[in-house]
Amino acid sequence: MKIAVPKEIKNHEYRVALTPTGVRELVERGHRVIVQASAGEGSGFPDTDYQAAGASLEADVEKVWSEAELILKVKEPQSEEVARLGEGQTLFTYLHLAAEEKLTKGLMASGATCIAYETITDDHGGLPLLAPMSRVAGRMAVQAGAHSLEKAQGGAGVLLPGVPGVAPAKVTVIGGGVVGENAARMALGLGAEVTVLDKSLPRLEALDHRYQGRLRTVYSTADALDEAIRDSDLIIGAVLVPGAAAPKLITRKQLSDMRPGSVLVDVAIDQGGCFETSKATTHAEPTYVVDDVVHYCVANMPGAVARTSTQALTNATMPFVIALADKGWQQALAEDKHFLGGLNVHAGQVTHPAVAEAFGLES
Ligand code: NAD
Repeated sequence: MKIAVPKEIKNHEYRVALTPTGVRELVERGHRVIVQASAGEGSGFPDTDYQAAGASLEADVEKVWSEAELILKVKEPQSEEVARLGEGQTLFTYLHLAAEEKLTKGLMASGATCIAYETITDDHGGLPLLAPMSRVAGRMAVQAGAHSLEKAQGGAGVLLPGVPGVAPAKVTVIGGGVVGENAARMALGLGAEVTVLDKSLPRLEALDHRYQGRLRTVYSTADALDEAIRDSDLIIGAVLVPGAAAPKLITRKQLSDMRPGSVLVDVAIDQGGCFETSKATTHAEPTYVVDDVVHYCVANMPGAVARTSTQALTNATMPFVIALADKGWQQALAEDKHFLGGLNVHAGQVTHPAVAEAFGLES
């Protein structure tokens, strides 16, 4: 199969859909992989690495798209990319269509088959192609929080692990899912005192079992939140209510109960944020201060560590890409109900129920 890997063109997107290692896997199975020149540069993979892996490098973006049967991307196609898509082509990427009517209509008009990473499921009710980015964001949240606690960043001047004779900082993670567990794990690794709040008892039970008493788990109530607000040096917001905006768990009024220089990292900002005072920021200016509390609210955290994110994404997408390339999309999706959940648009129709419902269409 002819597979294309275009260079991402969305603002500040440095990831690429396939590493040179991924290219080699496909080439060794007899597929042809066309990589757009400099596509991997933002992730630290030069063209020469792709060539060595067996890819054909192509500088002309129109040719990259027009020759391919399968197109692999990271972000949803931008309007100039939608215009390049055509019937008989399969697009495999993050789409997040439910909030993007114009894009949805554009993909329907293209006649292409569009499979979204984020709606593929697994046997445990998880989202295996979203999880790698949540792991990255969770781990980064602690790094960002630790940096924000430094005096020069407006923080209280607190070192997460403390030192002998000085107690470690207190970190509270609200939401103990994929982001939350990875944040907790990083904070523990740095020697902080860590509490995880969640509304799900089975989730807290699993964390308690896994971390064998090194982690405090607390059922998330208004009282528990009040205590966290008063006591924590760093609070990480990592909640998710599927299909809904994030609940606002800390109000502006409550900021005055926090110690001056404490830090809020709102990872749930891509779902509207879980603190009332959160507003999305960028890597160029990641933080701002409200009532002496530092806020870090970057909506695309994995973009800052593009190399790690690209590798993690390729690891997760690879089995699906191989199935598409070896079997064609019809057979690959027919054989795997979880993969079929990824089908969002085909032959001018929205095929995913949630996306169809969002726009009052039939699926
Ligand atoms: P997840 O479903 O694995 O975990 C969410 C957890 O929140 C669940 O355990 C759930 O029980 C808990 N929860 C829900 N409501 C709660 C409440 N009121 N109080 C306490 N806990 C509550 O989701 P995830 O993959 O960990 O993602 C978490 C958030 O991070 C999502 O909003 C996701 O979109 C976001 N995210 C952001 C970035 C970024 O770059 N900013 C990157 C990846 C993920």
